Amino acid sequence: MPELPDVEIFKRYFDATSLHQRIDDVNVRNAYILKGTSARELAHKLKGRRFESSRRYGKHLFVRTNDHVWLRLHFGMTGSLQYLKNNEQAPRHARVLFTFANSRRLAFDDQRQFGQIGLLKSVGEFLKTRGLGPDALEVNHGEFKKILEKRRGAVKSILLNQKLIAGIGNIYADEILFHVRMHPATEISRLGDKALTKLFGATRYILEKAIKAKADVNRMPRSWLLPYRGKNGRCPRCGRKLKSSSIGGRTAWFCAHCQKRLS
Ligand SMILES: [Zn+2]
Repeated sequence: MPELPDVEIFKRYFDATSLHQRIDDVNVRNAYILKGTSARELAHKLKGRRFESSRRYGKHLFVRTNDHVWLRLHFGMTGSLQYLKNNEQAPRHARVLFTFANSRRLAFDDQRQFGQIGLLKSVGEFLKTRGLGPDALEVNHGEFKKILEKRRGAVKSILLNQKLIAGIGNIYADEILFHVRMHPATEISRLGDKALTKLFGATRYILEKAIKAKADVNRMPRSWLLPYRGKNGRCPRCGRKLKSSSIGGRTAWFCAHCQKRLS
């Protein structure tokens, strides 16, 4: 499921392929992923315009056109972008295809259709309406502490809450907690200043490092949880079998030996 590092990689891919070209056609193959707009409106608003710049916030990608209209992309569980050469076949689950003046196409592929595409007049307004917290890579140490220190609940649930901090999902929350050796069910109100500082540092470190690895698990450090996360996976630190449990409605993977629960 695309999280902040994945969406950052999509943004860079989008910027490298799809900016500054006239949009000649918008082909919606499946309108299910359109939110607050129709296939007709999407085509009408985008045809003849250009994508000029993009901005990532949390797990959202916003693309500005040269006409005060923003395209909003959310990648749901299986969304991705693919820029196609002239005669290249569109991926099987392409839901929307943008055709540029050079005949190249950008496909929004999404097998499971939890992704979303919409139009916005103002990104700021959208963020406000959604009540999203600060972006996980933009939030500073002071803000991070202020947001988290008065909370109650499992630390993992808090990290997943997009209204507190935006961008962290299931996989990277587990990775951050593995890095600081904290059990995902640890009650956040038990964390002192030092632990929150560590958590902040790890959040930034893991997200930045994941982006450097192009959000590709094969390029991630072997000392991370991610390459082993799942059934029969073993802790890269102590070699014991990883455990899973449901926390905040999501499956957490962790090492019960290395990640102690504060009590
Ligand atoms: Zn371990």
